[in-house]
Amino acid sequence: MTAAIPALTPDPTPRVAIVTGAARGIGAATARRLAADGYAVAVVDLLEEQAVETAETIAAEGGRAIGIGADVSDAAAVAAAVERVASELGAPTILVNNAGILRDNLLFKMSETDWDAVMDVHLRGAFLMTRAVQAHQVDAGWGRIVNLSSTSALGNRGQANYAAAKAGMQGFTKTLAIELGRYGVTANAVAPGFIETDMTKATAERIGVGFDDFVAAMVKEIPVARSGRPEDVAAAVSYFCSEDAGFVSGQVLYVAGGPRA
Ligand code: NAP
Repeated sequence: MTAAIPALTPDPTPRVAIVTGAARGIGAATARRLAADGYAVAVVDLLEEQAVETAETIAAEGGRAIGIGADVSDAAAVAAAVERVASELGAPTILVNNAGILRDNLLFKMSETDWDAVMDVHLRGAFLMTRAVQAHQVDAGWGRIVNLSSTSALGNRGQANYAAAKAGMQGFTKTLAIELGRYGVTANAVAPGFIETDMTKATAERIGVGFDDFVAAMVKEIPVARSGRPEDVAAAVSYFCSEDAGFVSGQVLYVAGGPRA
């Protein structure tokens, strides 16, 4: 006689993830992927209506998600958003700092406003979100932080502000790994190359090139001979958030179809 195999009961308290800038693009793909991985997901973006739309898509796919409107560079909005996540979904222990903007220009034409805007969303935003979420991670004795860097961190013409911010994200990540490791929290960065999203569509438009021609030109420089998709980045984020990645911290993973785009 064989012993009955106990039925697997679903985890009643799934881990809670926050993804910023998740209404569209890489953030939306990441939110969908983490929901499919079994986490409850808070979709945070500037406009609540768009964040809610993405959360509804995730719910329609069988996941658990809420949409929250918040500007990640606003300390009060960040505190309120993280509190809402904690009360509506549970303590957030996974954070993906993905919200981002471009304000490209050659250095001699770059305004202070464009410099500050990029620093505010990427660096100040990641700082404020992480400071708010780490309290929950330290309480839980477990956490995952994934920051979006870029191949532009290695330098890119017309992106002095963005390259500095994305290189800054790498230093921020490594410092989080050192400070928070003892509390069971890992911090890693994903650095995408060329990914087809509204952000790269806007770049093509700004330089006056059709998107298909822009993609074709970029693909010529990519060793795997194709452009990146938001899902390619989401898969890397998913790994860093997994239980299996618990001994991997302070790393930067280039997701660029080659050593760099
Ligand atoms: P995207 O399509 O432009 O999406 C970015 C999202 O962030 C938008 O929904 C945007 O909201 C939101 N956002 C902007 N400022 C915000 C703020 N202050 N607070 C909250 N949300 C804010 O960009 P993406 O291509 O998916 O890029 C996602 C991340 O990957 C960014 O950090 C980007 O720098 C990085 N990345 C992208 C590529 C690429 O090739 N696409 C390559 C390397 C790195 P609104 O729509 O309302 O403005």
